[in-house]
Amino acid sequence: MSSSQVQPDARPASGAAVAPRRYLVQTFGCQMNVHDSRRIEEVLGAAGYTPTDDAEVADLIVVNTCSVREKAEHKLMSLLGKLNPAYGAPDRRIVVAGCVAQQEGEALLKKAPHIDLVLGPDNIPELPQLLEQAEAGAPPRARTVFDDEDPRFLRARPKGGAEVTSFVTVMKGCDERCTFCIVPTTRGSERYRPADDIVGEIAQMVEGGVREVTLLGQTVNSWFDPSTVDENKPRSKRAPSRSEFADLLRRIAREVPDLARLRYTSPHPRHLSPELIDAHAELELLPKHLHLPVQSGADSMLRRMSRRYTRQEYLDRVRALQERVPGLTLSTDLIVGFPGETDEEFEATLSLVREAGFVAAFCFKYSPRPSTPALAMGDDIPEAVKSERLQRLFDVLAVQQRAHLDALVGQRAKVLVEGPNDASVSRYTGRSERHEIIHLEAPEGVDPTGQIVEVEIVRSFKHSLLGRMAGATIPEKPTPRPRRKLTVLSEGA
Ligand code: SF4
Repeated sequence: MSSSQVQPDARPASGAAVAPRRYLVQTFGCQMNVHDSRRIEEVLGAAGYTPTDDAEVADLIVVNTCSVREKAEHKLMSLLGKLNPAYGAPDRRIVVAGCVAQQEGEALLKKAPHIDLVLGPDNIPELPQLLEQAEAGAPPRARTVFDDEDPRFLRARPKGGAEVTSFVTVMKGCDERCTFCIVPTTRGSERYRPADDIVGEIAQMVEGGVREVTLLGQTVNSWFDPSTVDENKPRSKRAPSRSEFADLLRRIAREVPDLARLRYTSPHPRHLSPELIDAHAELELLPKHLHLPVQSGADSMLRRMSRRYTRQEYLDRVRALQERVPGLTLSTDLIVGFPGETDEEFEATLSLVREAGFVAAFCFKYSPRPSTPALAMGDDIPEAVKSERLQRLFDVLAVQQRAHLDALVGQRAKVLVEGPNDASVSRYTGRSERHEIIHLEAPEGVDPTGQIVEVEIVRSFKHSLLGRMAGATIPEKPTPRPRRKLTVLSEGA
């Protein structure tokens, strides 16, 4: 990890008024990065920058990076190649933020000398000041310091009724140290946000028109309130004996009654406690769906991955949850080709997928990452075997997802409408109480955005459903929505 100090008094060389500077933020990776990109946009907006979708006219490009897989890093290097000022725009500033920035620090400046600033996730609030220093002639630098002693959680600002769903961070970092995962290196150790601050932000978002909040954290359900711990204890001994996450969910439900739905990601199976299961059974605003990463179905692999639960413990916990919340669906994360994965271990993963009845999963081929314990285990599963196992997983999951979606046709669902469908003028898209994507036809002249509406499911697609609100008809051929042409840099990872 590397860093350099912020120079406190650097200012632009002249006090003359300057034209607004335009920025573009390109985001790779997970929801945490999407959330961080919003904070980057907000600090830039407060500093007088204006957004643009057009890379050609941007004075500043911020690439918010992901390093969970090697492929995402390759995409970054290829993108940085395209942004080399030798190919035009010599005055454009380039900032690399996010996990690759934190992981590589100053080494990234050596690999791509046209970068002006390498910025760690905890240093986002300093971005305007660091840009000012760059404008004043400061050399390229890396600022990648964790805020361990005084954790900062930037508050999201409501977008004036323009947003139905939003993220709110409750903790950051991870102490689990799964052997394949780079997150403890790129996001640091666990830091928790006080309940008052979390509830205050959610209330503000709801007042600004948000209907659904997703609580974010690398192990979100390990949360406890840091304002109630004994600060005289060493950091490693401050966590209470049990997670207080269920208490947080109850408090949000009680104190923000206008919030329609409350989700969270990503939970760790070992913190799916009896108290959290009770909260799911009691609180109506929690979804009838849980995304609970399992990674493998073989105990031997779970041990090598250092996941700290067994297959049976995972299954027992989700069964207990499903008994209390009938109809609750599950999705998960899975890795194939982890070092030493035998045919039997892979078959155990396939059988877990069937036994748990996952309706969706993010499945990945193992990718060796720097600074992880698994690096020393080698990467001994041939690419062709990884591809074949991945395809077999996809095939099983596709059958399960299809059967699940088909079974919903003819049923009713409560859909939180998130906004107009991208492709069709009269169609809207939302999520059911179980988190299925539902496209719905609304009656003419009715815009149900932000409302929870009851729909009848009339058709299933590969990954989504089509529903009809009372009074609406389903046209043979939906009228296409005119497309806005954007010049962005590339697709996300
Ligand atoms: S729980 Fe494991 S996989 Fe998840 S962020 Fe922490 S180390 Fe990574």
